Amino acid sequence: MKNSIVVITGASSGIGLACADVFAHAGADLVLWARRADRLTEVAEGLRTTHGITVTTQVVDVRDKDAVAAAVAALRAEEQAPDVLINNAGLSRGLDPLHEGLHSDWEEMIDTNIKGLLYVTRQFLPNMVARGRGTVINIASIAGRQAYRGGNVYSATKAAVKMLSDSLQIDVNGTGVRVCNIDPGLVETEFSDIRFHGDSQRAATVYKGYEPLTGHDIAECALFAAGRPQRVSVQDILITPTAQATTTLVHKEL
Ligand code: NDP
Repeated sequence: MKNSIVVITGASSGIGLACADVFAHAGADLVLWARRADRLTEVAEGLRTTHGITVTTQVVDVRDKDAVAAAVAALRAEEQAPDVLINNAGLSRGLDPLHEGLHSDWEEMIDTNIKGLLYVTRQFLPNMVARGRGTVINIASIAGRQAYRGGNVYSATKAAVKMLSDSLQIDVNGTGVRVCNIDPGLVETEFSDIRFHGDSQRAATVYKGYEPLTGHDIAECALFAAGRPQRVSVQDILITPTAQATTTLVHKEL
């Protein structure tokens, strides 16, 4: 990945943070996005020191269309043209049945997981198309393939991401740009803390009794897809813990 520029959204935690680590290890230069500036700074300093790569950090809320456009314009002004875009920023909120769900939770998920991904992709893609190369990696979810109780709006947003990946395959066909959709199963990150609005005891129960995936397991998939020769397009990856067969069937030993 030497001489490649990789943009990672949601790089302050979990899967995005692991992607930063894995791509840095592979020699890529990085552009890291998230809202928590302190975390981004800390991550960037560590990666620069360890790997001697260039790391640019930008504090961006992907829900803010203008902020996304401004950040991409700033990169363009520095002639930084990304080779890989990892659309990872995302979240779930709540696990209530639809008839008890909170509008605020729904809006946050839809605005981040769908609209944010669209804003970011719309800004970076024209340059990739013009250059005739580039890889867009969308982090969707197994939740977008199979519904589960209380997953309703989160699952719908991830089904939308998968359909956007599939549509994008068609839209960029013939341009040299590649699209990879990754559907992870259960990965131990801050995801469940965020879902349960900071109830970390409840969050911990999600990962008890089996060995969940780590962010690095997903990052390795992203690196595999991005690192293939130009003739190879890895379109779709479903990755789960060995203990997980479907969204809901998880073999736990409690
Ligand atoms: P984390 O909560 O650990 O990380 C989420 C990241 O997204 C953080 O870096 C956060 O940064 C960033 N983020 C959230 N909202 C925004 C926003 N509005 N603008 C910019 N950045 C934002 O969770 P994961 O690493 O698990 O989640 C990463 C992706 O993986 C998500 O899309 C999630 O849906 C998906 N996924 C996760 C699974 C799991 O089991 N963990 C399974 C399947 C898919 P900050 O708060 O600093 O902005």
